[in-house]
Amino acid sequence: MPDQSTTAAPGTLGAWAPKGQFVGGVWAQGAGAARAVHSPADGRLLATLPDAAAQDLDRAVAAAAQAQKGWALQGPVARARALKEAAARLRAHADELAMIDALDCGNPLTGMIFDVNLGATLIEFFAGLTTELKGETIPQAGGKLTFVTRQPLGVVARLVPFNHPFMFAAAKIAAPLAAGNAVILKPSEETPLSALRMAELIADLFPEGVLSVLTGGADLGAAICAHPGIAAVGLIGSVPTGRAVLRGGADTLKRTQLELGGKNALVICEDADLDAAIAGAVKGMNLGWTAGQSCGSTSRVLVHKSHYAHVVNALAQAFDAVQLGHPALASTQMGALSTRAQYEKARGFVQRAAAAGARIAAGGADAPVPAQGYYLRPTLICDIGPEAEIANQEVFGPVLCVLPWQDEAEMLGIVNGLDLGLTASIWTKDLDRALRLTQQIEAGYVWVNDASDHYLGAPFGGVKQSGLGREECLEEMFAYTEAKTVTLVPNAASGG
Ligand code: NAD
Repeated sequence: MPDQSTTAAPGTLGAWAPKGQFVGGVWAQGAGAARAVHSPADGRLLATLPDAAAQDLDRAVAAAAQAQKGWALQGPVARARALKEAAARLRAHADELAMIDALDCGNPLTGMIFDVNLGATLIEFFAGLTTELKGETIPQAGGKLTFVTRQPLGVVARLVPFNHPFMFAAAKIAAPLAAGNAVILKPSEETPLSALRMAELIADLFPEGVLSVLTGGADLGAAICAHPGIAAVGLIGSVPTGRAVLRGGADTLKRTQLELGGKNALVICEDADLDAAIAGAVKGMNLGWTAGQSCGSTSRVLVHKSHYAHVVNALAQAFDAVQLGHPALASTQMGALSTRAQYEKARGFVQRAAAAGARIAAGGADAPVPAQGYYLRPTLICDIGPEAEIANQEVFGPVLCVLPWQDEAEMLGIVNGLDLGLTASIWTKDLDRALRLTQQIEAGYVWVNDASDHYLGAPFGGVKQSGLGREECLEEMFAYTEAKTVTLVPNAASGG
């Protein structure tokens, strides 16, 4: 493992440094307090950046309101063309953008290159849907015509988290822009850099003011939610932030999309292909992509009692084999946690589980890790009951717990016993059972004999407190539109 106390930290931002806030088409220093952005991988200072403050937000909203109607009037083909060009430019800068994210959020470079291309793919996907912003006609008597069109909402905001900084920044501006809105994007205060670089690369493709990128923390997010000039807020974030967004937007009746957290179950049945299920449980944790900091990570395995010991041993071996290291090194299979708070939170969960009598079958809060940075080895927790804290709370880190079950009803009670319901994964060779469980498990996305993968156009989102609405599909674009109904009555004098 690299010891950064004796070797130069790998990876560099090169000559690039953020120019400040991107407000209404203009780069300006934010009026808020200066924020130091450090790498969670090695502690180095990446940038110092004043946050955007209320007056910056007001300027961004005013510029967006002015520019939005012209953008909408350009029509679907021109908007698609601009978005496709944006995607091409981002792909052409994939290495640079991925290095910014690797250093800023601690995830391995290879995963962040994948993320840049995924963000570009989602932009292309929504570019291809602009002509699907279709309405309907309603039958009428007497030659009248009633029709419904989809109108953009106007100025909308997207608040995104730290775990896929660039991918979410790119992907989440795409649907509202495709629908003809102006967008104010707020990346996480922990990982603001790649969104700012994205604005440098693509903003000239849109009328000035159509895209603003403002960086700052919860205060700025709250100001966005309360702003009367913003029609909608889409959040990718935690459940408590989802509640704050709903409360903050209540006075202005904001349209709201929420993609929130999960404590997702991976169920291994008696008849499962065990090797595949074990590999699926490792894959489902997204260790190499985000050190387990994925909303969809299947972070609780429920395995039939007959396979419990075997599955625990095999998962422990797989976790122990993961090569932890600096995200910019090619040898690294899992990087650092993205923030100090996340690191302390995840370690705290592991320490409390151990103190409560759980067996730590791999990793652990004090397992050896690189000398600097927020590293935590993939940790496997077993010999607990379903009431254990670790089996109920989202850790958002490389921590997996394993629970045995005896009969299906008991297992379903555990799976559905939480207020969360984002994803689930079922491993069985029995088609009837697979169908029955997909119908009974309370989750927005269920894989059978797979985990983790998203598919373009397939709705993604949660039930219960895991969110409101569906994304990565046509419905996401429609969420940034509203129906307008028109009835035309023929003029009798003209003979109609
Ligand atoms: P977070 O909720 O702390 O922050 C998300 C964004 O909201 C950030 O930009 C943040 O600055 C902003 N924010 C924070 N407090 C706010 C407030 N009071 N008002 C308005 N905005 C506010 O989330 P995080 O810690 O960055 O990310 C981790 C969480 O995100 C996890 O719970 C994870 O499950 C969830 N997540 C969900 C999805 C999904 O698609 N469902 C995807 C990724 C992450």
